[in-house]
Amino acid sequence: MKGSLTGNVYLVGGGPGDPDLLTVKAHRLIRCADVILYDALVPPAILALAGTHAAVVNVGKRCGAKGITQAEIEALMIESAQRGLQVVRLHGGDPSIFGRLAEETDALEAAGISFEVVPGITAAIAAAAQIGVSLTDRRKSSRVVIVSGHRAPQNAPEEKVDWKDLAHAETTLVIYMPGNNFTILREELLAAGLHPRTPAVIVSHATTPSERHRFTTLGELEKLPRMESPAVLLIGRSLEHAQRRSNRRHLAHAFDEAELIISSL
Ligand code: SAH
Repeated sequence: MKGSLTGNVYLVGGGPGDPDLLTVKAHRLIRCADVILYDALVPPAILALAGTHAAVVNVGKRCGAKGITQAEIEALMIESAQRGLQVVRLHGGDPSIFGRLAEETDALEAAGISFEVVPGITAAIAAAAQIGVSLTDRRKSSRVVIVSGHRAPQNAPEEKVDWKDLAHAETTLVIYMPGNNFTILREELLAAGLHPRTPAVIVSHATTPSERHRFTTLGELEKLPRMESPAVLLIGRSLEHAQRRSNRRHLAHAFDEAELIISSL
């Protein structure tokens, strides 16, 4: 894809992890890119789709490139494009959800570099699909709220989530970066008026071979086992059916085990 004086930058959503969930366009762009700047959440199976000529650079903040700043990522994109290279900035999930897309497009625009955003399947959509849940349900949930549970400590007071404003019996809450301590979240959501029996589920590594999920209720949120990051926490009545389905499965499993034990006596 070399040739033009200035290359393009594609800000591409790599989806939640399963390479089969890439869009055809994302797949094509990854295959043809000269430079791929990827997030920590993008798995090796997706990076393996890159051409052999491509420079594939980890700009994720979790591992490998801990020291890299957002300004350095932006500079890398701009310099590569100015050298006439086709750049794919590969985000986990969708670039527009907690991905600093706005900062990156601002920087590209200021540098006069043309860019295109290619959407990907975000974790909320992927997690819901994996547990067979409809995020909206005209009988139970008329809105979906995507919110980050993570707050940088220095920004804590200003960025405090107003759960009262977000929590509503007819809302499905999807909390990204939920952490592992749900004491405050539980208290605030109960104080906001949600019923303690409102279903909740945590889904870790959605769509990957390490996927795990666990249902509970808002009242028992603190009893959730520690789940590995990346994970999303979903809360809302739209989960009721999936929760019952999961309980039935657990019960059937427990009966099978009991039967095995009894028959071996
Ligand atoms: N742009 C990404 C989100 C980046 S923020 C997206 O659209 O999905 C990183 C957070 O996303 C993680 O901490 C986690 O909360 C969530 N996440 C990303 N991939 C996930 C996955 N496969 N399973 C569960 N949560 C995931």
